[in-house]
Amino acid sequence: MPNVKRVYTFGNKQAEGNGKMRELLGGKGANLAEMNLVGIPVPPGFTITTEVCTEYYQHGKEEIIKMIKPEVEAAMKGVEKNMGMEFGSSSNPLLLSVRSGARASMPGMMDTILNLGLNDEAVEGLAKKTGNARFAWDSYRRFVQMYGDVVLDMKPQSKEDVDPFEEIIDAIKEEKKVKNDTELTTDDLKELVIRFKAAIKKNTGKDFPTNPWEQLWGAICAVFSSWMNERAILYRKLNNIPAEWGTAVNVQAMVFGNMGETSATGVAFTRDAATGEDIFNGEYLVNAQGEDVVAGIRTPQEITIEGSRRWAELQGISESERALKYPSLEEVMPAAYKELNEIQQHLEDYFKDMQDLEFTIQNGKLWMLQTRNGKRTGAAMVRIAMEMLRQGVIDAPTAVLRVEPEKLDELLHPVFDKNAIKKANIIAKGLPASPGAATGQIVFFADEAEKWAAEGKQTILVRIETSPEDLKGMNSANGILTARGGMTSHAAVVARGMGKCCVSGAGDLQIDYKARTIAVGNKTYKEGDWISLDGSTGIIYEGKVATKDAEVSGDFAKLMELTDEYAHLKVRANADTPRDAKTAFRFGAQGIGLCRTEHMFFEGDRIKAVREMILADDEAGRRKALAKLLPIQRGDFEGLFEAMNGLPVTVRLLDPPLHEFVPHFEKEQKELAADLNVPYETIKNKVESLAEANPMLGHRGCRLGITYPEITEMQARAILEAALNTRKNKGIDVHVEIMVPLVGNVKELRNQKEVIKNTAEAVFAERNDRIDYMIGTMIEIPRAAVTANEIAEEAEFFSFGTNDLTQMTLGFSRDDVAKFLPVYLEKGILKHDPFQVLDQDGVGQLVREAVFKGRGVKPELKCGICGEHGGEPSSVEFCHYAGLNYVSCSPFRVPIARLAAAHAVLKQGGEK
Ligand code: PEP
Ligand code: MG
Repeated sequence: MPNVKRVYTFGNKQAEGNGKMRELLGGKGANLAEMNLVGIPVPPGFTITTEVCTEYYQHGKEEIIKMIKPEVEAAMKGVEKNMGMEFGSSSNPLLLSVRSGARASMPGMMDTILNLGLNDEAVEGLAKKTGNARFAWDSYRRFVQMYGDVVLDMKPQSKEDVDPFEEIIDAIKEEKKVKNDTELTTDDLKELVIRFKAAIKKNTGKDFPTNPWEQLWGAICAVFSSWMNERAILYRKLNNIPAEWGTAVNVQAMVFGNMGETSATGVAFTRDAATGEDIFNGEYLVNAQGEDVVAGIRTPQEITIEGSRRWAELQGISESERALKYPSLEEVMPAAYKELNEIQQHLEDYFKDMQDLEFTIQNGKLWMLQTRNGKRTGAAMVRIAMEMLRQGVIDAPTAVLRVEPEKLDELLHPVFDKNAIKKANIIAKGLPASPGAATGQIVFFADEAEKWAAEGKQTILVRIETSPEDLKGMNSANGILTARGGMTSHAAVVARGMGKCCVSGAGDLQIDYKARTIAVGNKTYKEGDWISLDGSTGIIYEGKVATKDAEVSGDFAKLMELTDEYAHLKVRANADTPRDAKTAFRFGAQGIGLCRTEHMFFEGDRIKAVREMILADDEAGRRKALAKLLPIQRGDFEGLFEAMNGLPVTVRLLDPPLHEFVPHFEKEQKELAADLNVPYETIKNKVESLAEANPMLGHRGCRLGITYPEITEMQARAILEAALNTRKNKGIDVHVEIMVPLVGNVKELRNQKEVIKNTAEAVFAERNDRIDYMIGTMIEIPRAAVTANEIAEEAEFFSFGTNDLTQMTLGFSRDDVAKFLPVYLEKGILKHDPFQVLDQDGVGQLVREAVFKGRGVKPELKCGICGEHGGEPSSVEFCHYAGLNYVSCSPFRVPIARLAAAHAVLKQGGEK
């Protein structure tokens, strides 16, 4: 084995690592090192690197222990010296925490063990040293419980079963006739330890290890193993975290928040993670351990007076009751609070980003356990970036880069309609854990939420508290509601990360998993009933509440203005109706990059004329039907041109295979026969003759216009007449671009161009008026990309149809890919769905080649993209590097693409 360093120590304001070493030390380890270097009080410890995790999976447990033993033993000596305690001693035992810490934060997905080092002797030593036997035995029973669960694998048998340890605790409480854990005596806790150990032996066949070193090796290996547990794998998949990264293990001296009334533990954010407001906030519990706060078992209290008052107001609790029963940390432990407040400001100034902190107060002394850049909602992300820019903490490029394009999606979703809310019945109030509006049917179990979502149902996942096992269900639900847990519970943190609406800690709800009901006051709601959640106020409503469209305003609008200063790419929208065009305009689209004219055919009873055209026997029949469509299409185009108010509009000629427009079932075919006054058999035979085996490669695109030029004639006429009308009647300077689809051979384009030009001249002569227009083509067949130099001779612009280009380059049918794509993703053959994220190495190279060849002929050739990739951030960045002029995407993705376009420039170190 090469002589690499596998263990990095930290403590007493010194560290072998630093904050830049995330890859090797994981986020937590790098931060612990950095916090020491910044001079923050952090319990000493050491980090075993992420590389060891990879080695663990290569060599196994025994080898790994051998490999790291000398370094771990040396590091332990340092921790012992720092703390003035001894690991394994029975009179002055050093206790440890063992935690995971990957490069990217994965809250709660992997395992943690606390109080390690306790055994039957050490617990007595701890009791004597602290003079608090109850505390010592409570720590011991927690340790046995955690170790049993994480390392020795004591798990509930089924989803309805309670945790086996909780069952034992409940039994003792019942015997002793007490309600809360806190009422258990030292002797009760001793009895718990005995019963826990016996249960472990009975259920797993394993003895609880008494040797502290054996405990430590078991815990380290269990943390490495938890990298591959089911929920961690799923979380990585959802967040694009590669499995190769591995987790580091952080071993650290324990400090205790549960030593009595002058001890506490908590989690805090330097700004509000839900709204972005610049206010220090967080939650704490007196006489508790860290896991108690995040696990959501006891509902914690607010850290600041201001936060506490706001919380009380939401809960309808008076100020006097609040101050008495639910005081803030600021009131209860003012000195520790003052130090914490100074540290939080110091850390935010130092890291120049919102921090998520964990702390413990042991007998009045504050220790910081963790700091990291806090997860936040899309709204908070925008506000924090823009506010830090205004406050001079960061510069404009940093502010733009701070906002992840995909996160903007959350700001574009609907919110509850104010009027609808006024009329809705309130069921209860919880904490506004993650904003947004969600409506759905009540479902109690994560696996069922997933199943219902797959059936197309909208759901609200309702849990007493969530555990990381619920991740899949949370991901598929529309919203999450929990009865327990605060703003920093796993449910809240994970929901915010997902951008999912969440209300937590709604304590009035009585949730019964067995009966599948929620009781509140004298009302009961069953599984399947509709409820609505407002994640911004914490209010839960009965039934479905109507929603309203989002707006681009305030900091969001300012951010968008800023992106335009940096972005080189223009962003257009794919829009087919005046309504979509208006949305696109509202979101800042700089034109329409694709109007799929066929989408207009489905409105009202236009489809009748379309079908008549398709089913006609000859040109004369088709022309008759096309004459009916002409005024309709002209009207639609006028609406579109008006909505875009002079911005360029690319209208594509008819593209899809005709069979998509005809009815396939007997009943509808009979109705159509009656409508057209022809025998049913005629319709049936005609529909059969249109059928294609793989329609997306058949009679579609320009092949339609070439075989039936009268369709192109009608569409070109409708477009140009609409353009002339809009200019004349509305005074709008229309910029129209006519686009020919599915060209693979320059002669196809030449053919269609002639039809369009002849039609145009005819229209201009009739009107005695002219208008400029462009004729271009989609590049969506590989042959078109490869022969782009020839095609550019005829085309005034290129628009890459990367949906078809992906289909034809990869040979994956757009319609049938779902049959094998999941397996390809799972086996790592593909990293992403190539229909969502552009295959840069394959399809992307065709795009580059076509741009290069096209501009070789026409240096100023305008190039854009209008496939789905036009709204996907990594693909947008690629388009920038490939030298495109614009991307075009669905209206709701326009802001995302604008931001991604600015990121592309800034990541290259570009200037305004
Ligand atoms: C494309 O192929 O990328 C495209 C935009 O056209 P459509 O999806 O309509 O085939
Ligand atoms: Mg296409």
